[in-house]
Amino acid sequence: MKLGLEGRKAIVCAASKGLGKGCARALAGEGVELVICARTADVLEATANEIAAESGVSVTPIACDITTEEGRAAVLAACPEPDILVTNAGGPPPGDFKDFTLDDWRRALEANMLTPIALIRATCYGMAERGFGRIVNITSASVRNPIPVLELSNGARTGLTGGVAALARKLARHNVTINNLLPGLHDTDRVRETLKARAARERIDVEEAARRAAESIPAGRMGRADDFGAACAFLCSEQAGFITGQNLLIDGGAFPGTM
Ligand code: NAP
Repeated sequence: MKLGLEGRKAIVCAASKGLGKGCARALAGEGVELVICARTADVLEATANEIAAESGVSVTPIACDITTEEGRAAVLAACPEPDILVTNAGGPPPGDFKDFTLDDWRRALEANMLTPIALIRATCYGMAERGFGRIVNITSASVRNPIPVLELSNGARTGLTGGVAALARKLARHNVTINNLLPGLHDTDRVRETLKARAARERIDVEEAARRAAESIPAGRMGRADDFGAACAFLCSEQAGFITGQNLLIDGGAFPGTM
């Protein structure tokens, strides 16, 4: 299927690695010109060069912290009229409710709720005027099924989900959609870090921790950034214009419910 995206312009946030990079690669493969960001300039630049070389599209790296106003301004200056916006940032740290301070909560809300909302607000009305827009928020399976050690993430991402649910309906008649992708366990650097902690706890090596994690998923494996990116590219396609306000779990069947 051709996704009808050739020549479109996208901002993909937090995209030097992991799920954001998976989304960037999939969009570039469809001929979308990209502005990507991350904080670590050399890794970001290497990713931009890699994606540009394999796809032939232009990929502009903006090294910044997307959770700051300056970071968002730099990204928007590089791509003031995006057709596609993929929001993403690092997730909040794990811990326990009793230990989280209000400042911890403020940081989580800033990164995983207010940053996407600011970017959506800055771009969605222009998309509506131009008659095409696709917004995809990378949230988490924790929106459907709270993860005990990730209460900051559970709260901030659910806030984002609720915060844009009505907006998705308001923008639908302008051919602008907003959908959320909810990753379950994917084999990325972030997850490898958490597996190191599990390995230490269970006195096993990281590969064994990864095997045990994969075993707990009905698909028998962790997700791959490229599969995740393919779902993102489809939600950004011409064909997906009638899909909006949805929360799509990408978790290999891990959510234990019928719906
Ligand atoms: P990852 O492999 O660690 O990649 C994170 C990417 O985001 C890197 O490119 C990183 O680059 C960039 N980044 C982080 N903070 C940033 C910031 N403030 N500004 C700009 N760029 C930033 O992580 P991932 O696994 O892809 O996770 C992506 C998101 O999905 C996270 O919010 C995570 O909590 C969520 N999630 C992941 C999974 C999973 O299984 N992987 C499951 C559920 C939810 P720099 O560090 O250089 O900035």
